[in-house]
Amino acid sequence: MTAALPTDFPAATVLGYPRIGPRRELKRALESYWNGTTTRDDLLSTGRRLREATWRRLAGLGIAVPPSNTFSYYDHVLDTAFMLDAVPDRHRAAETGAGAGAGVGDGDGLDVYFAMARGTGTIAPLRMTKWFDTNYHYIVPEIGPETAFRLADEKPILEAVEARTLGIATRPVLLGPVTFLLLSEAAPGSPEGFTPLERLNDVLDVYAQILESLAAEGVDWVQLDEPALVADRTPVELAAVRVAYERLCGLPDRPRIFVSSYFGELGEALPVLATTPIDAIGLDLVSGGLPADLSALRGKTVVAGVVPGRNIWRTHLDDALNTLRHLRHHVGTVSVSTSCSLLHVPYDLDQETELDPAVRERLAFADQKAVEVQTLANLLAQAPAGDMPAPPARPTAPAPEARWDDRSPYAARAAAQAEHLRLPPLPITTIGSFPQTGDLRAARAALVAGEIGEEQYETQVKAEIERSIRLQEKLGLDVLVHGEPERNDMVQYFAEHLDGFAVSRHGWVQSYGSRCTRPPILHGDVSRPAPITARWTRYAQSLTSKPVKGMLTGPVTIVAWSFVREDLPLPEVVGQVADAIRGEVADLQDAGSTIIQVDEPALRELLPLRSADQAAYLSWAVAAYRHATSVAADRTQIHTHLCYSNAAQVLEAIDGLDADVTTIESARSGGRILPAVASFSRGLGPGVYDIHSPRVPSADEVTGLIEAILAVLPVDRAWINPDCGLKTRTYEQVEASLANVVAARDRMLVLT
Ligand code: GLN
Ligand code: ZN
Repeated sequence: MTAALPTDFPAATVLGYPRIGPRRELKRALESYWNGTTTRDDLLSTGRRLREATWRRLAGLGIAVPPSNTFSYYDHVLDTAFMLDAVPDRHRAAETGAGAGAGVGDGDGLDVYFAMARGTGTIAPLRMTKWFDTNYHYIVPEIGPETAFRLADEKPILEAVEARTLGIATRPVLLGPVTFLLLSEAAPGSPEGFTPLERLNDVLDVYAQILESLAAEGVDWVQLDEPALVADRTPVELAAVRVAYERLCGLPDRPRIFVSSYFGELGEALPVLATTPIDAIGLDLVSGGLPADLSALRGKTVVAGVVPGRNIWRTHLDDALNTLRHLRHHVGTVSVSTSCSLLHVPYDLDQETELDPAVRERLAFADQKAVEVQTLANLLAQAPAGDMPAPPARPTAPAPEARWDDRSPYAARAAAQAEHLRLPPLPITTIGSFPQTGDLRAARAALVAGEIGEEQYETQVKAEIERSIRLQEKLGLDVLVHGEPERNDMVQYFAEHLDGFAVSRHGWVQSYGSRCTRPPILHGDVSRPAPITARWTRYAQSLTSKPVKGMLTGPVTIVAWSFVREDLPLPEVVGQVADAIRGEVADLQDAGSTIIQVDEPALRELLPLRSADQAAYLSWAVAAYRHATSVAADRTQIHTHLCYSNAAQVLEAIDGLDADVTTIESARSGGRILPAVASFSRGLGPGVYDIHSPRVPSADEVTGLIEAILAVLPVDRAWINPDCGLKTRTYEQVEASLANVVAARDRMLVLT
């Protein structure tokens, strides 16, 4: 084998780090800036403090050259669009600062930046969607043939200089040009067939300028993230990768270039990248395996992502070390890193003083992972040269045979349900949650803090249930809900009531912008020690003669929004959760529920990035859902709910859930999904009220959406409902909006 090539790529690194603040300082700073209670300077100084704390923390943990430009005031994809001046005209109008040339880095462009992210009173924001198969959401840039790219925001350069001023050399991280364009969408009005990737050369002009500026500032290495390369890519896209990196590597004055990939294997993109002159290449060896042919990587520094960046389990150091030694033997120069940015995990396990010690000792949050990376780099340096057999792959037992007890055919069920429920045509229902008031949140906090007792809390929850039932009756809805006031979150609530889960105190992870979630920790075998939801539904039903829908979260969603144990194959974990939910369905039915909804909004999120893996996933995911729901008798109507309208890839699977009624987001995208779901053969409720906006839709507007539904669906299978739960709206907005929904439906009934 060849001797190690000289390299100054750090022996240990992390690809990125959380940015919301260990106590969600950025969330608070953003929200108070948005509502006008603090100034731009307050926000900027919070940003500076968080960046400094991050660099010092990582340096202190042994990460010699920490990454920079991993901070963001909202989202790193938006930062990139903003940096390139890919700002739609409608958002430029929000400019209030110093005018052209002002960036986020110096704060003057913040109003335009936030207009792109959140819209203004009158201007719609850019679309937001999930970042690969994670629960992080990014802002989708709009790129057209005329987008005039230029270096409009020097944030990556300013951050590197800011760190250097503190005495810390950093490695600036940029979203790679190919991934940036692949994640963008064609700007409205672009010619048919235009794809943003056509603009690669113009985008590369700006990247070249940034790389040259970074070199002039004395930056040694730059990290370009290209996670899009782990999904299926066309020959044209692969050719773009070659063009991009040959061009950037050809710059006479540039930092050394590290291209990182994550969330899967590079596959056919590996030989392409490996034959460009890039200096280092990053592989996610946690979600993907080792490349079959390592010889292609010789001459590059391989940055081996062996410390899991997306989960919170401690790394198996022995296995990781063997992988590293094997790699070093075959390729020469190896650095140790996390498998992806640590954006997806909480900061520091040391904040969790209340966790069961037996669970805690199995965990590693971001800071513990940085230490693991450093430990592995030391172990590797001390380990003798020579090959090591690569450790066996993690348990990925073949997906279990899809098995469930079938319910009767839909026609038989529909007849039994019609007879039993006697609903009017075009029945109106909601998706489950009613507004969560400040009082309720305060009561929950007081309960956790021990300031009020269980009984007092329950009284308040019951009062909330009664309030929402009375409102639904007054409005004239047909199928009521209890409103979910007892739930802090649709996943965490179940996690708190099931065995096998733990919940953290400060384990917040950014979901988008200032929004965070605190994923439960699924650490052991899941089971249901006692019934969870039936008593609330029963109470709600005792208040009304209209049917009250029981409300459950589906097994895939519970798992997707948790940190999940890795010592059992995922389908088995989901199967255990499905068992527990099946128990809830049975209990609700026994308690007299005639309609039970099992939500699966995360069904699409777990869809594998490679098309070859998708069918197997969908088959076990659907099987789990059917296992959970097939305990329902014919006359018990099962509803499911999904809240995304770009469901194209999973439509068949949604149909396969075999729910009697499917409610789905539709109003937000103006009914674009309707043609695709028209083929569904059971009940369907495409949303007619966009609950993401505080706006109250008029009865005319809702009528238009109902007409569009009836153009593709027979009246006896159509349901009328909002796009999603009403949790984030106010009672005032909800009452006015639902009144218009009822008025529109009634108008329609007269006509049909
Ligand atoms: N039943 C849940 C609610 O209404 C569904 C939420 C969701 O789909 N994300 O809040
Ligand atoms: Zn929803």
